[in-house]
Amino acid sequence: MNKPDRLIASIENDPNLPSILFFCCIHGNEKAGYEALRSFFDHILKHKELIKGNIYGIFGNQEAFLHEYRFVDKDLNRIWTKSHIKASTQNHKVSEYFELEDIYNSLYDILSRNRSTVYSVDLHTTSGPTKPFIVMNDSLNNRAFVRNLGYPVIFNVESYIEGALLNLLNDLGHISLAFEGGEHYSAASVKELKIFCYKTLYHSGVVSAEDLVSIGIDEKYFRSKPAKYFEMIFRQDLKPTDQFEMVGNYLNFQKLKKGERIATLNGRNVLSPKSYQIFMPLYQKKGEDGFFYVRRINTFKLKIARILRNWNAERILTILPGINKVNFYTLSIPKAIVKFIPKRFLFALGYRKSVEVDSDKLYFTKQERKLRKLPKLKSFLSPYKV
Ligand SMILES: [Zn+2]
Repeated sequence: MNKPDRLIASIENDPNLPSILFFCCIHGNEKAGYEALRSFFDHILKHKELIKGNIYGIFGNQEAFLHEYRFVDKDLNRIWTKSHIKASTQNHKVSEYFELEDIYNSLYDILSRNRSTVYSVDLHTTSGPTKPFIVMNDSLNNRAFVRNLGYPVIFNVESYIEGALLNLLNDLGHISLAFEGGEHYSAASVKELKIFCYKTLYHSGVVSAEDLVSIGIDEKYFRSKPAKYFEMIFRQDLKPTDQFEMVGNYLNFQKLKKGERIATLNGRNVLSPKSYQIFMPLYQKKGEDGFFYVRRINTFKLKIARILRNWNAERILTILPGINKVNFYTLSIPKAIVKFIPKRFLFALGYRKSVEVDSDKLYFTKQERKLRKLPKLKSFLSPYKV
């Protein structure tokens, strides 16, 4: 088997029009994404005249793909951080550092030509069966894009997982999400991933619904349906030496009863502490995430949060003594004060992630970002540098 090309296909029209970046096989064993993208591009390349934008298909982990592994040395969807990006320029013994460097340089080329809105869609599949869903950071531009797509949307993943590719694009201020199309080897996953590509063309304004229908895409895909929102509240971390096994066959988003036995970890039972919903249970050997718990977010609260953010309500906080804006997305709050500020209020403003700076201070970061350019690989500085 030959290595797939890094740039699977592209349509470049005008840098002043929106650009869509599709990624597949960031996890090497998730071939459905590759199949979906090839078939999608085969189709749309015949109708270039309908496309009012730029579209790129970028391949992820080439080496892992050849071996049908999720990854070879490191998970390519956990290393888009400052330290790993820096290490990738110095150490090519780690297979994924080579992949990261090569993808980064391709991205740099594409983004340095772009002058308009960027949509980044990272296509994935899961080890267990699931209905399709979206994972993304909680920023207003992301929310506006997914609002009428009709899929469940998961927020707050960034509090549990660092270094996902979607974070890099989000940190640059772009619309960025991961789409999980279904189980790795199911034919339905390829279809779902392809539908998502067409939906992205429509919702980004790159191709009109009429034009998509005229080239054979079912109009039902372009009817707007409200999204359902969930927040991640727990991640079961797994070390390489851990013996972990899920009990039974859980479906994604399945509701759990308090005290229900859901897995075994090193010979001990894992019981659900509350009536949460299970998310991404691990049904394959390789992986650092055993399972997650998620909880539905009420849409009324989301609306309030949007209004608060548009009003720039965080100004109210900075009037309080000791609370300062470190930069556009970071608030510094003294530990003595933080207990008097409702977490929900901070969440509504978009501040989810907290980092301890010293014994008296916490930094809270939010996912809203101002647009900025991707620096050259050698001078990369993570926006998380606080
Ligand atoms: Zn994946």
